Amino acid sequence: MKVLVVGGGIAGPTLAYWLKRSGHEPTLIERSPALREGGYPVDFWGSGFEVADRMGILPRLMDEGYRVREVREVSASGRRIAHMDP
Ligand SMILES: Cc1cc2nc3c(=O)[nH]c(=O)nc-3n(C[C@H](O)[C@H](O)[C@H](O)COP(=O)(O)OP(=O)(O)OC[C@H]3O[C@@H](n4cnc5c(N)ncnc54)[C@H](O)[C@@H]3O)c2cc1C
Repeated sequence: MKVLVVGGGIAGPTLAYWLKRSGHEPTLIERSPALREGGYPVDFWGSGFEVADRMGILPRLMDEGYRVREVREVSASGRRIAHMDP
């Protein structure tokens, strides 16, 4: 079946991948003219982790990702005020 998938965020390409794997013909469209190049850290856990594993992209994500050891709030002078172990 031909399927139009709207949106190239995390959900759209994932859906298109699985549709294609199950024999459909997805077309993915995105209104933004280009990829965001600035980068932004995202937490990655739970079912998203499981889906990425099933897609075989987990090793690449682990390679590219950061391991956050601590999240800190600091004062203007740089002194640690509060922290969290992620
Ligand atoms: C500040 C912030 C921080 C976040 N941090 C995290 C985090 O650390 N970890 C985490 O798991 N989640 C995080 N989230 C939530 C996460 O970003 C969203 O849950 C996720 O991006 C949703 O993915 P999506 O593909 O459904 O939607 P989106 O990422 O919003 O993608 C939708 C896409 O569809 C496109 N689109 C929309 N309408 C049309 C149209 N009519 N035609 C064509 N294209 C269209 C948009 O341009 C967009 O690219 C954060 C969200 C925010 C705002």
